[in-house]
Amino acid sequence: MSIGFEVLARDGAARRGRLTTAHGDVGTPVFMPLATTGTVKAMTPEDVAATGARIVLGNTYHLMLRPGAERIAALGGLHRFMNWPHSILTDSGGFQVMSLAARRTIAEAGVTFRSHLDGSLYELTPERAVEIQYLLGADITMALDECVAYPAPREAVEKSMELTMRWAERSRRAFVERPGHGIFGIWQGGTYPDLRLRSVPGLIEMGFDGYAIGGLAVGEEQQTMFTVLDAIVPALPEGRPRYLMGVGKPSDLVGAVLRGIDMFDCVLPTRSGRTAQAFTRQGTLNMRNARHADDPAPLDPECGCPACTQYSRAYLHHLIRAGEILGAMLLTAHNLQYYADLMAAMLQAIESSSIAAFAASFEGKE
Ligand SMILES: [Zn+2]
Repeated sequence: MSIGFEVLARDGAARRGRLTTAHGDVGTPVFMPLATTGTVKAMTPEDVAATGARIVLGNTYHLMLRPGAERIAALGGLHRFMNWPHSILTDSGGFQVMSLAARRTIAEAGVTFRSHLDGSLYELTPERAVEIQYLLGADITMALDECVAYPAPREAVEKSMELTMRWAERSRRAFVERPGHGIFGIWQGGTYPDLRLRSVPGLIEMGFDGYAIGGLAVGEEQQTMFTVLDAIVPALPEGRPRYLMGVGKPSDLVGAVLRGIDMFDCVLPTRSGRTAQAFTRQGTLNMRNARHADDPAPLDPECGCPACTQYSRAYLHHLIRAGEILGAMLLTAHNLQYYADLMAAMLQAIESSSIAAFAASFEGKE
């Protein structure tokens, strides 16, 4: 058995499930905090786990450049290196490499690029991307994909989708099967449902452990993304996890869960925590704003995180205005707790067959 996935409850297209890897169970729908360089920025692993997180996302591109995949392997793998005993999904590096623009060249074999750190030349092929993730010890490996910028002409999206399919096959072949570890294929095709539907049978035939939807939430309107999801998600196998990459805002997560997505990752809660933005049940707050300066109330009275139970809005505002590190730590902890609570609330709503009402109550919210 590679990795396990069981759908435990359904409500319309939405599912509640359980993902099982070599490092334990993960309830779905799930939001995966970003541990880009082997750390969730401004958080200890213990604090990340305290939010309820049981899976984080590591980044192949960053870790291959620094400190290097072979070094991490020699030190016992990424779990041990970063002291995270739960599951890790690693991305393939494709997205970061593609965004290097002028510093990279894409060919059939793979992509060559110059490091943003020291300018040295690297090659990332599907085989090497899978090998790096093997060296890191990822529970879930991602196939290498090519992603085009949005908006892109249909021909460019089609060409990119076809290359991604060939890379998916090579990635699948390079993956070393072992218990509790799996590989996900990435589904490209932009906002063109017909391109997506044309490529999905081939991807399913390759026999991935899960399917990731790439190339959405790259700048299109939310409703466009939802319309594409409505058209394409039913084409995915029922019994495998579905991962919408790089998504998103709270309302994006709600709309995507409603449409049958199980897994998410996004920079938003952690990056916002470092830029004074807080997600709360009353909406998004800019804690830099002077209106918080005299406010003794908690950030979000319904939240159980340390920032909300032990500090006032006035103090958080003060930390941020003073540029104190603790401000970023507390807001990051809060934002991750908010996202974890949102996923837990959706899980409950699916159990009680009320996900549609839950989603309706979220409409128009950011
Ligand atoms: Zn909180």
